[in-house]
Amino acid sequence: FQVPTAINEPIRSYAPGTPEREAVLKQYKEYFDNKEDIPLYIGSEKIKTGNTKPLSPPHDHKHIVGHYHLAEKKHVSEAIKNSLAAGKAWANLAWEERAAIFLKAADLIAGPYRAKINAATMIAQSKNIHQAEIDAACELIDFLRFNVEYMTHIYESQPESSEGVWNRVEYRPLEGFVYAITPFNFTAIAGNLPASAALMGNVVIWKPSDSQVFSAKVIVDVFREAGVPEGVINVVYGDPVMISETVLASPDFAGIHFTGSTHVFKELWKQIGNNIHRYKTYPRIVGETGGKDFILAHPTAKPQQVATAISRGAFEFQGQKCSAASRVYLPKSLSKEILELVKKDIASFNKPGSPEDMSNFITAVIHEGSFDKLAKYIDQAKKDKNAEIIAGGGYDKSKGYFVEPTVILTTDPHYTTMETELFGPVVTVYVYDDKDWAKTLELVDTTSPYALTGAVLATDRYAIEEAVKALKNAAGNFYINDKPTGAVVGQQPFGGARASGTNDKAGSAQNLLRWVSPRLIKETF
Ligand code: GLU
Repeated sequence: FQVPTAINEPIRSYAPGTPEREAVLKQYKEYFDNKEDIPLYIGSEKIKTGNTKPLSPPHDHKHIVGHYHLAEKKHVSEAIKNSLAAGKAWANLAWEERAAIFLKAADLIAGPYRAKINAATMIAQSKNIHQAEIDAACELIDFLRFNVEYMTHIYESQPESSEGVWNRVEYRPLEGFVYAITPFNFTAIAGNLPASAALMGNVVIWKPSDSQVFSAKVIVDVFREAGVPEGVINVVYGDPVMISETVLASPDFAGIHFTGSTHVFKELWKQIGNNIHRYKTYPRIVGETGGKDFILAHPTAKPQQVATAISRGAFEFQGQKCSAASRVYLPKSLSKEILELVKKDIASFNKPGSPEDMSNFITAVIHEGSFDKLAKYIDQAKKDKNAEIIAGGGYDKSKGYFVEPTVILTTDPHYTTMETELFGPVVTVYVYDDKDWAKTLELVDTTSPYALTGAVLATDRYAIEEAVKALKNAAGNFYINDKPTGAVVGQQPFGGARASGTNDKAGSAQNLLRWVSPRLIKETF
């Protein structure tokens, strides 16, 4: 099966004077000054319910950039009906046609929609252009192209046959529809969750995060222009409880593709359990959830490498990555030097500011709820005897939800911010005695219920091997001498286990396999 070979989309520089920089800033201004009116997308219709919510950039929360229309129960039912009506034709379409649609979507993002999807991500999620380019353009393009390649590997994979017998497997889509619930923090994930299920021949009800609606709209426009037929991907916004209750009560619910919080995922899982007698088929449950990702430095680590892993791993993208480093273990012998280097890095960043000022490394966190939570933990650390803020610690929500990159140093390895997921630019450091390496490995493994990403930094190969073995189950993506973030599609398939998810790696054939129900056909001659 020959499809165009997927290669990672090159990341553009957006250096001063480049046409791409001009284009994205122009588009940003256009979005910022206009008012988008964002409908639901159900079947062939764009539905304006009249019941709307305003959209504001996190870095300028009094400014309104548009409104989005909220679904009522009847719209969700309508979306389900439309998806089912579209299902047969979509499932019967040759896989090459589905592949062509999503390859075209990738090309549209790489070309005419690039400035749009990046500018919309800067507005909606307050990402600076480099973050937007890596996420909304490159990673989404990569997901679309690599998944087409992985799909062909799946279809090619066939059982042995023997004389007089032909065994073959037909990779059918699931019978029913897939429900995609997507997060605010990655435009790429928002696009990938519905697209990967649809690529395998499924129809989808997609509920984006309220905080990502503005950039989700660009994805919907791309999918439509690329030729995703009516009803194949239906988009609803609104009360998440009502939407999920309605969707999960349908007998045709066949799977959920989720990225979001551990708590919500477990609630949905319970609901699916409660409804199990209604369903025509056992639903596929695929989720990527929380993390409390670690950096562990050995006494033989290189201090500058550890410091860079901390400042980039904890603060890039405002720490709003599931993979972001949020608990750090440093050996006493190196801790002073490493922390000085981290402070130097932080001092070199601008104060948190707007993403259209391209020199801002740190922008705003997503919303007031997130800001207040971070401020609460920072204030608590200022008071607690077993914690100390050694960098940052400031915050200001008068214009945007700005939180300074903050380092908390604690003497208690179980201090609250060593254990609680904060999802922002706050990292907590614990210093261990060099001779307690083995004990620290156990601490890293047992402190958190999560197991998404983690990094060990060391030059001693025995120490690396010990960490690899002792932390076998502590991270789905395990990094040696690197930061724990920045998985690239096609290179580091991404996902975690324990409370971090079902570990059906995003950007892998393994993930796509969850969206098919193989039929074995044996024919004798
Ligand atoms: N894939 C991203 C990374 O490796 C993180 C995705 C997420 O935050 O869910 O940094």
